[in-house]
Amino acid sequence: MSTDEIFRSQRVVTEAGVRPAAVYVKDGRIARVTAWADVPEGAALVDLGDVALMPGVVDTHVHINEPGRTEWEGFESATRAAAAGGITTVVDMPLNSIPPATSARGVAVKSSLTEGRVFVDVGLWGGAVPENTSGDAKGLGKVLAEGALGFKCFLVPSGVEEFPYVQRDDVRAALAQLRDAGCGLMVHAELPGPIDRAAAELRGEVPPPDPRAYRTYVRSRPREAEDRAIELLLELCREFRVPIHVVHLSSSGALGALAKARDEGLPLTAETAPHYLHFTAEQVPDGATWFKCAPPIREKENQERLWAALDDGLITMVVSDHSPCTPDLKRMDTGDFDAAWGGIAGLQFSLPAVWTEASARGYGLDRLAQWMCAAPARHAGLQAKKGGIAAGLDADLVAFDSEASFTVDPAKVHHRNKVTPYAGETLRGVVRGTWLRGERVYDGEGFAEGARGRWVRR
Ligand SMILES: [Zn+2]
Repeated sequence: MSTDEIFRSQRVVTEAGVRPAAVYVKDGRIARVTAWADVPEGAALVDLGDVALMPGVVDTHVHINEPGRTEWEGFESATRAAAAGGITTVVDMPLNSIPPATSARGVAVKSSLTEGRVFVDVGLWGGAVPENTSGDAKGLGKVLAEGALGFKCFLVPSGVEEFPYVQRDDVRAALAQLRDAGCGLMVHAELPGPIDRAAAELRGEVPPPDPRAYRTYVRSRPREAEDRAIELLLELCREFRVPIHVVHLSSSGALGALAKARDEGLPLTAETAPHYLHFTAEQVPDGATWFKCAPPIREKENQERLWAALDDGLITMVVSDHSPCTPDLKRMDTGDFDAAWGGIAGLQFSLPAVWTEASARGYGLDRLAQWMCAAPARHAGLQAKKGGIAAGLDADLVAFDSEASFTVDPAKVHHRNKVTPYAGETLRGVVRGTWLRGERVYDGEGFAEGARGRWVRR
């Protein structure tokens, strides 16, 4: 069997653990994984020594915002940042672009924009909104047929008017449509009731609470909003048995409902995001609106429960929820949390942010790869191509110097807008190189010529 290139490292991250190995690549795919010494004389060899070779990260929660809000991010800048962060597949969320991916046309417009312009592979989620779910609307099938990988909906206002939120009956209608679709429904799980009650309480206080205080913002998005939403999803999952996935879980109060689902064998799963695992409410300075996201970054005690849930498998994966905007929308001049756009820009730093915290808690690269590569690939239905180092999968690889550290320099942020809570943070784990289907796209300093990424569809 001929081979194009062989990668080897003393620490190759596979499902079976971290071990010395050689990885043969042929035509963009992994042909086989063999013993470290099994390299013929004269072979084209990328020898990483002690630097780990891990699968490319699969990030199924990215807001690219193109077209329509391309000044917030865009396919080119997002996929460069991804490559620099060791991410080889991103899946774009259906909202914040105009049009949103709530129709076949919305998906088609986005997929056409990926052609020749993306530096890593890109998948697209569809959106479930009242228009394509409620009553007799049967709009989800057309979105799937256009190549969307699954659906996302909101139970509270999404922040943009062209992507309205759904209520219980719409969710039931969506789940009925997805019964035999082979994909599930992702849900932004916060309910309006507890948020409205918190807002009324804050409005009634004398003296009025400081809008620049992070504590005020956390009080405005109580854990109860998430906890009640996830109880509702548990009930609907029992009724329909269609996979439901909670995006960006922040409240540890909902872990009981997830445990119940697991005990009953129901397909209710959850992800969390790097910012919930790395930052704590106690650390967020007043006026630092670049930390604003919904649901919010909560207290240290809550964070440790999220880590325990990851360890236990109740939370199955970690994806970025990269949701950038322009600096003016962050209201950095006033520091008013209430007025600022909610969303954290962190795509490029997901892998080192999670590794910093995971390694400090004694977890190895094999766990990291489960949470950030294998589980998200499975979630998007891409497990036959992505998310691991094994024969038959795409040769999406990262040279990850897991013992090295770096300090985040805004000048080296590849997101379109450089505002990020990671600025100035010292993180563990440096990406020394990223390969997409066997081709190097990032070498630790800069990018290869040409956009080699592709649109990945069902
Ligand atoms: Zn999001």
